[in-house]
Amino acid sequence: MDTTDFYLNVIKNNKDRKEGKDAESLKRKKIEEEHYQCCHAEKTGPHMCNCINAEADRGFSNRFVQHYPNSFTVEDTDYFTLNFNTQEELMSCEFVARWKETMDNRKFHKYSISPRDHYCAASLMVEYDEGKYWWCIGYIKNTDGLTLPEWKPVYE
Ligand SMILES: [Zn+2]
Repeated sequence: MDTTDFYLNVIKNNKDRKEGKDAESLKRKKIEEEHYQCCHAEKTGPHMCNCINAEADRGFSNRFVQHYPNSFTVEDTDYFTLNFNTQEELMSCEFVARWKETMDNRKFHKYSISPRDHYCAASLMVEYDEGKYWWCIGYIKNTDGLTLPEWKPVYE
């Protein structure tokens, strides 16, 4: 290969690489457009059953979905979910109510809400020992009409 061929080849390879990248990013964009942002299910079908936006057609104004710590391996169907309208319905369901017990000698303090942020849906928190221990127990689709206090982490 002489020098001219070499340079022509470099130019061609760069062009191919750029086109490859463009095709790749177009493909990624198409995948993003065709899937829900929340649970990555295809938009042609329903949301995943453990998505807070699932079952929106059932006529409830809100939905709760259990949170599992990352270290857990669970099936999508293992999540406790609840469609609800009022805070009372949410707080009285067995899954939420049972956190009110003393856990590992830690005294129940209160439920609170960590507001939705860019990356994450609003979370229902449960606090123990004056708020020094806390867990996220699940996600809430929207916080309209909920009067739980905002979660503020307390450090010892
Ligand atoms: Zn979803």
